[in-house]
Amino acid sequence: MPIYEYDCLDCKKTFSILKGINDNSDTLCISCESINVKKKISAFSCCGTDGGADFGSMPSKGHG
Ligand SMILES: [Zn+2]
Repeated sequence: MPIYEYDCLDCKKTFSILKGINDNSDTLCISCESINVKKKISAFSCCGTDGGADFGSMPSKGHG
């Protein structure tokens, strides 16, 4: 099972959770149990674009 890292937007805590690929259940903050969490992108997202400023368009679309 892969480990996903999340940032809680409420208490600003960063935590990691083991989750199955087919597990689409809501992720709760382990600290304040808020659903207001954001999955961290574990990829290099800096200095590597060739083609110009294209902020705002996300290449992948998830469940949400
Ligand atoms: Zn929290």
